[in-house]
Amino acid sequence: MCALRITNVQVCSLEVPPAAEEGPEPTAPLWGNMKQGHPMDRFSEPPRYGSPGGLIWVKVTAENGMWGLGYTDSGSVTSVLIKESLMSLIIGQEVGAIDRCNDLMWYGTLSFGNEGLTARAVAAIDLALWDLWGKVLEQPVYRLAGGPARQSMEVYVTGQDVAWSKRQGFNKFKIVRPHSKYDGQAGVDGTVEMVARMRELAGPQAELMMDCWMCYDVDYAVQICEAVRPYRMRWMEEMLMPHDFSGHRALRQRLPWQTLATGEHWSTRWPGIRAIEERLVDLIQADLLWIGGFTEAKKLAHVADAAGIPMCLHTGANDLFGQHWTAAMPNTPLIEFFQGLPPGIPFDITGMASPYASARQAYRMPPGTPTPVEGKVGLPPGPGFGLAIAEEWLQPLD
Ligand SMILES: [Mg+2]
Repeated sequence: MCALRITNVQVCSLEVPPAAEEGPEPTAPLWGNMKQGHPMDRFSEPPRYGSPGGLIWVKVTAENGMWGLGYTDSGSVTSVLIKESLMSLIIGQEVGAIDRCNDLMWYGTLSFGNEGLTARAVAAIDLALWDLWGKVLEQPVYRLAGGPARQSMEVYVTGQDVAWSKRQGFNKFKIVRPHSKYDGQAGVDGTVEMVARMRELAGPQAELMMDCWMCYDVDYAVQICEAVRPYRMRWMEEMLMPHDFSGHRALRQRLPWQTLATGEHWSTRWPGIRAIEERLVDLIQADLLWIGGFTEAKKLAHVADAAGIPMCLHTGANDLFGQHWTAAMPNTPLIEFFQGLPPGIPFDITGMASPYASARQAYRMPPGTPTPVEGKVGLPPGPGFGLAIAEEWLQPLD
C-alpha cells in the first residue's frame, strides 16, 4: 500500500438529526443536581466554573477522501489552538504515522505549554488520526493499538442513583462527595451519613468508591477516610489537588491501608509517570481528552503496566474512544460509565444508537456508542472507532 497523505484538518460541530419518536420520561431528577463539595467552596461567591465552550469535532481527511473523527471539549479555545497552531503541523503527514504526528504537536507547542487546553486540542486530532487509520486498514482501533486484551470490560457506574443503577445490572458504584474540607466536622459527619446510606442501598457485596474531586487537603482526607473505613471503600478518588505531589506522598504515608486513585486532571503523560516512579497511587484514572489523547494515555499505560499499576479511564465507557482504548490496554481491569441521564431513562438507550438519545445530551456519548449491559461492555465496533456519524451531520466551523 502506498503512503497516504493527510490533506485537510477541519474543526466541526455535530448536528444529529432530531429524534423520530419520543422516549421514556425521567422518573426522578438527575443526581447531578445534588449538593456536591467543590474546590470553589473556598470562596463565599456562588461558584463559577466549567469549560470554555462545549464539544467540538475534528475531521482529518486523507488524499483519497477517507476521513477520521475525534472530539474534545473546551471548544471555543481548543478550536483556536487547532486552527492556529496544530493543523499546519499535521497536513501533509502520512496517514498512520500517529506517533510522529503526536511528537510534532507536543514539540510544536512546547513554548506556550503542552498541558491543559493544549493537551485537549491535541487529543481531538490524535483521536481523528486513529479513526482514519482504522478506516483505511478496515480494522477496529483496539486491534491497531495492540488488542484486544480482553473480550469484554467490567464497568462501574458513577452517580448517586445507586438503586436505579442496581436495577440496570451494576454491582460497582462510585458515589460523589457531598462536602468539601470547608464544611469541617459537619462535612465529615454528613459524608459518613451519606456513605452509610449508599452502602445500605448497594448491598454488602457491592464495590463502593467515592469521588472527592480535589475537595480535601491531607488532614481532611485522613479524617474522611478513617470515618468511612467501616463501609469498605474500594478506593478513594482524587482527594487532593492534581499538582500537590508532596500531599500525595504524605497521604500515602498516613493512609497505608487505603486504596488511592487519581489522575483525571493530570495533563500529558508526565504527572502520571512521576506518580508511578514515586508509587503515590494505586490506580491512575486518565481522561483521554484531558491527558492529550489516545496515544498519550497509551504511553502512560505502558509505563504504569511495567510498574504493576492499573489504569481505569475517566468516563471511558461513555464513548467509543475510551472503549477501544480499554479493550486494547493490558492493565485496564475496569472502565467507568458516568450516569449522565436521570433515572427512568434506561442506560441501553443513552448511547445515541438512536438519534433520540442525542437530544438528551448524555455525558459525552457520541452516536454509535454501545452502552453497558449488566455491568459489562463487549468489544466496540469498527472500523476505526466505529462512530455512527454521517458526514452531512458535521458542519465545519470557521
Ligand atoms: Mg473523578
